[in-house]
This record gives sequence, C-alpha cells and structure tokens, in this order.
Amino acid sequence: MPGCGEKLAKLTSGSQYDVCMPGECIQMLTTGACITYNQNAGGCNRMLKVLLHGSCSYDCAYCSVRLDRPRLAFAPRELAATFLALYQKNLAGGLFLTSGIPYDTDDVMAELVETARILRGEGYSGYLHLKILPGARREDIREAARFADRISLNVETTGESRLRALSGIKDYTGDILKRLDWIAEAAPGRHTTQLVIGAAGETDMEIFDCVTSLYERISPSRIYYSAFQALPKTRLASRESTPAWRSRRWYQMDYLIREYGFTRTELLPLLDEGDTLPNDDPKALLARGREPVDPNTASLSDLIHVPGIGTVTAHAILQARERHAIRTPRDLGVSGSCLKRALPYLAFSGAARQVTLAGFR
Ligand code: SF4
Repeated sequence: MPGCGEKLAKLTSGSQYDVCMPGECIQMLTTGACITYNQNAGGCNRMLKVLLHGSCSYDCAYCSVRLDRPRLAFAPRELAATFLALYQKNLAGGLFLTSGIPYDTDDVMAELVETARILRGEGYSGYLHLKILPGARREDIREAARFADRISLNVETTGESRLRALSGIKDYTGDILKRLDWIAEAAPGRHTTQLVIGAAGETDMEIFDCVTSLYERISPSRIYYSAFQALPKTRLASRESTPAWRSRRWYQMDYLIREYGFTRTELLPLLDEGDTLPNDDPKALLARGREPVDPNTASLSDLIHVPGIGTVTAHAILQARERHAIRTPRDLGVSGSCLKRALPYLAFSGAARQVTLAGFR
C-alpha cells in the first residue's frame, strides 16, 4: 500500500484539472505534494487541491481519472489529518477537495462531506472548497454548503448533446443543471462552476449562451474556463488540445458580462461567421468600432466601455469632473498602462479630437 506522502503526491497532481483560483501556479513540496497558488492573489493563497479518490467509474472522454488507474484514496479522517498537518506547518492555507467516483455517488459525496465535518470539528476555520459530484443528493449539497466556504459543480460543456459526446453516464439536465439549482439555493453567492473549453467541439456562440444563461439562472460568483487538454490514454488523446488563448479570451468575455454588464447585443458582433471568438482583447475590439468618448460628458457606462478603464476608475473620473474640467490626460487621474490603453479611445473637450500619449509627455 502506498504511504500517505506518496498518496498525497499522486492525488494532488491528479486534481490539477479543476480550477480553484484565477492564474494558478503550482509549487511542489519536497514530499511531492502540489500546492496551488496565485502570485497576485491575496487572502487564502496556498491551496491544497486534492482528490479524495484517484479513480472513477465515470467515462468522461477527456479525463484521466479512470477506474483503470491504481485505486488510490484517502479515508476522510486520514485526509483531514494530512491537511491539518500541512496547515499547522503553514504549508497550506486552504483546502480544495474534489474526488473521482469509483463507486456509488452518494457514498463518495458523503465521504467528502464527512471530511469537511471532521475538519470543522477539529476547529479548522480556514478556507474550504468542496466539489459537488454530478447527481449528488440535495441533502448532501446542503450539508456541504453548511461546512464549506465555497461549493462547485462543473457544468463542463454547453448542453445535453455536447455532454453526450463526452459521457454516456452523466445527464446534463438531471445530474448537472438540477444540481446547480440546488447548489445556488444552498449556497447563494458562494458557488462557482467550470467549463472545459473545446472538449465537445462547442462553438463560442454556444458558450456565450451557456454562460449568460448560467449567470441569469444560478448567479455563480464566477465561472472558470479551462482549455481542453488532450491527455494521454484518454478517449480524446488524439484530438488537438484547445489553445490556451481561448480560455484567456473567455475570462475577458466573462469579465465584460459579469462585472461591466455588457449586453448580448453588444458582444455578439465579436463572433465571426463560424461563431468563433477572435484571439484579441474583446473590450478593445468593441472600442475600435466606437467614436472616442469625452470624459467630461461620457456616462458611467460609456467610460466603462473604454479599454483600460474599469468601474473604480470610471467612478473616479465622474468625481474628478465635478471638481474641474478634464482637459488633458493628466486630469484623469489614471496612470501607467491603463492610461496608455485608454488614450486612443478618449477625446477631450477643447483639445484636438484625440490626444495621444506622445502629446501627453
Ligand atoms: S466524473 Fe468524469 S471528470 Fe469527474 S473524475 Fe470521473 S471521469 Fe473524471
């Protein structure tokens, strides 16, 4: 039987296809265990991301966690103790717990919840993210939400027919969408989901419709996008992996929808005839087709549509112009790369139609 250290190394590396924070990096401990972190993030920034079970009886075509792998698994108490030891040594600041499903879904889900219950019972009050399994029972989802800071179930793809191409077991409407509704009800504002971009050949139009309907239907605090990777020994091993830029562009699109409230009518012209997003910054692409805006008269929404200007900066500009006219870029109170990005899309009253960065020096 493998020792705890070997199990931890394998079950942390096997969990890396679930995204738990934007801009993830991996640090390998001397024991071989992986710690996930984001150089730029504050808060809980050193996550032990780990599988409870490293094998699975499901058949997801892109996934390498399958039954033919060695049946490595932690018992709930063993995993709780292993994590607490790392936490007490300050090697991990939070836990992201997921699992393969080697036997009955309800039994595995109960083990995930049991691990959380043990941790909280031991006095652990730090960050805990629990994965909900497809088809999980409503009472288990409620229990998971009671113990965890955040819960999530991966929507994986954009609809029933796309999911059928990936799995003959999972049912999109029942196992995924219905559970997402229960998750939203059990943990409002504390749940996320993830799309695997390109695994089922879905178009960007389909992704767009899926994403906007998810935000309307269940209000996830965010959606993660992982580019499909053709892993060896999976059914899709011979397919081409999705280029990383596609998931990057989807994070940008997501931000426009979620944070800035860009509408469907505004965003759909970005897609080409094949319903595909180009590899370019979507906000800049939209701005290139608009007239430059005058920061003295622009509405909040107009300002937010300018590349380099976000909600905070737009509000700051509105406040600044109550005190004085904005005649030069210096009056904007925006600096550095944001200013550089914004300038081509701004026109200052009384100045030439467009002020360039060169003119600002
Ligand atoms: S349910 Fe599918 S994606 Fe999840 S571990 Fe099992 S085979 Fe992989």
